[in-house]
Amino acid sequence: MLTGETILVTGCTGFIAKHIVVELVRRGATVRGTLRDPSRAIQIHRILRNEGLPIEGFSSVTTDLREDAGWADAVRGCRFVMHTASPFPAYQPRSKFALVPAARGGTVRVLEGAENAGVERVVLTSSIASIYYGHDESPRRVFGEGDWSRVESDSISPYAVSKTEAERAAWNVLEGSATQLVAINPSLVFGPLLDARPGTSASLIRLMMGGRLPAFPRMGFGVVDVRDVAQAHVAALTVPDAAGRRFVLNGGNLTLSDIVAILTETYPDLARRLPRREVPDGLIRFAARLSSRVRMLAAELGPAKQLDAGPARSVLGLSFRSPEEAVRSLADSLFREGLVRR
Ligand code: NDP
Repeated sequence: MLTGETILVTGCTGFIAKHIVVELVRRGATVRGTLRDPSRAIQIHRILRNEGLPIEGFSSVTTDLREDAGWADAVRGCRFVMHTASPFPAYQPRSKFALVPAARGGTVRVLEGAENAGVERVVLTSSIASIYYGHDESPRRVFGEGDWSRVESDSISPYAVSKTEAERAAWNVLEGSATQLVAINPSLVFGPLLDARPGTSASLIRLMMGGRLPAFPRMGFGVVDVRDVAQAHVAALTVPDAAGRRFVLNGGNLTLSDIVAILTETYPDLARRLPRREVPDGLIRFAARLSSRVRMLAAELGPAKQLDAGPARSVLGLSFRSPEEAVRSLADSLFREGLVRR
């Protein structure tokens, strides 16, 4: 179905995008990837070779989300666009809106370029960060396609603000357009790394396994495997009924304590490095009065939010790997890539 298609993947050096590129090339598509540093194209070639795929299936264009230059050339001749690029820093900036110019501005540049070039469909990598933040409702509330994070909330992070603003802008740009839009809204993405550049979502498990997290807050969150995220993006390109929809992706919920238990059971030799103590909620809530960063952490305390990933199953045909498998495969690859020593 994708054989012979040229597909633009923005931010092809990212953790998720690398899996998407592999999946597309495996299906016979030609991928044009955008990156900020042209010397990094070689990393994608190495990954394709490792997967037994032709490097001719990939070419790159240098662009930055904060700049206009290059986007018109990047989208030219593409029937489909996957817009995954967005700032995902390991540490939140101080200013609530610091990430918006790149996230929102970049999305507008990519989508306007796509529309002008007559692209048929854009798949946007959004996030559950654009769905459930800033709501103080019961833990039983189920969040899904119709929900939006409240950027005016005190407890929302700059990252979640940027994802919410970017996704809203995407729907606005393509409202009434012949270019279709599909949003993919994953929970926290774990799963195997394809190289030794892990991205931000692996950092928590890497810190734990490296013995650099002495204690952990009592919190839970949804987890989805990166291989399922890549499958969802590819399905979203071609499933007719996907157009105009937002798909929450979640393989299941875990607490930090669950993650410690999975790692302890899988790697008993690692147990001495893993955190054993929980940080009392009261301590975090007290510190939250003094620091806006801790306030964001405090907002995450307690059980994971309930997420409705039903449409991803019924419309995109996904069947999710378990969150335990996502944790184990990430941990295995952290060892394999030499990012955590045994
Ligand atoms: P990575 O940090 O690994 O990838 C982010 C990508 O965006 C990189 O290719 C990065 O380029 C690019 N990028 C960032 N800023 C700019 C910029 N100013 N101009 C051009 N490119 C830029 O993260 P992930 O792969 O995890 O995330 C990919 C997408 O998925 C993001 O949109 C993220 O918000 C979303 N997401 C991620 C989740 C997760 O848990 N991982 C969960 C839900 C959504 P460079 O390599 O040069 O830094």
